[in-house]
Amino acid sequence: MRRRKFLTLMGAAGAGLALGKTPAHAASNAHFEGYPDAKAVLFDATRCIGCRKCEEACNKVNKLPAPAKPFTDLTVLDTERRTSAKAHTVVNKYMPAGAAAPVFRKIQCNHCQEPACASACFVRAFKKNPDGSVTYDASVCVGCRYCIMACPFNVPTYEYDEPLTPRVMKCTMCHPQITAGELSVPGCVGACPKEALVYGRRKDILKIAHARIEANPGRYVDHVYGEREMGGTNWLTLSGAPFKEIGMREDLGVTSAPELTSGALAVVPMVAALWPALLGGIWAISKRNEKTADEERAAAVKAAVAGNQAENDAKLAKFKEQAEKDKAGSIEREVKKALEEAAAAAKEEEGA
Ligand code: SF4
Ligand code: SF4
Repeated sequence: MRRRKFLTLMGAAGAGLALGKTPAHAASNAHFEGYPDAKAVLFDATRCIGCRKCEEACNKVNKLPAPAKPFTDLTVLDTERRTSAKAHTVVNKYMPAGAAAPVFRKIQCNHCQEPACASACFVRAFKKNPDGSVTYDASVCVGCRYCIMACPFNVPTYEYDEPLTPRVMKCTMCHPQITAGELSVPGCVGACPKEALVYGRRKDILKIAHARIEANPGRYVDHVYGEREMGGTNWLTLSGAPFKEIGMREDLGVTSAPELTSGALAVVPMVAALWPALLGGIWAISKRNEKTADEERAAAVKAAVAGNQAENDAKLAKFKEQAEKDKAGSIEREVKKALEEAAAAAKEEEGA
């Protein structure tokens, strides 16, 4: 990223945050209804058996490191987990009050229609794609982790153990693989043996979800989670147990995410106002140091070259001077010799 662009964004972000607005929020006051042909995934918790096949498929598709325990080990479900840099989706087990059997819930990025992560990111590393997915571009990320703070679903994570180029990690809805034609549906959807996951146009997926509730009102809570939460998401959930009892937030409301993000950041004005400036300063100092180092390096090379040149010039001048002296001495000697020879010859003639 060009320095000027970066600092412009920093300035815009700092000013926007000081006013309680993120760049994304400031840019759009209207509620975004989503791309017309955007895709969505429906997760039906009443069908999930907690087999972890989705976790395994996700791990394979994203070429993530093997977990400490194999995917066939279901004892990991005994501990509530969250997504991590090495696991973009996890399945948790819940025992809702009065339930006869455990309920399993799959967790991943919900691919919000108006993503809080994107609105919090002042270098615009996050993108809402027309296919409904929310993706991240590590090449522009400055590592501020605003996105992690902003996400109401506690999804993105950071590669803390990656010393050189740490990235924010989260589910991409297999956007890269689907775009490249390597997959036709997200890896987890294709791997689910119980059809607990369905992929399709969001409009159609919503119809399917409502049809299931209508067909089995006793089986489901009468609500499609994500239809309107946070302005709507492209990952929708059906459940037979109250959503709160399977670890899902019921306090989010339907306010669009950018609006909530600006609110969330505004409650930490110190951080919100100072962080961009601090980061900008660190970045500028590091760039200045790089620039100084480059300039010093160039000056040293120039000085070395100039020094060598001066030394060479001095040697040459000395050599020339010596040569001139030698030459002059030689001429002098030759002249002297010639004069001496001439004098000797004259003497000889006089004596003859
Ligand atoms: S769930 Fe979190 S990370 Fe995913 S799009 Fe929404 S705000 Fe961003
Ligand atoms: S693969 Fe399907 S059934 Fe198995 S844990 Fe994942 S969502 Fe549940």
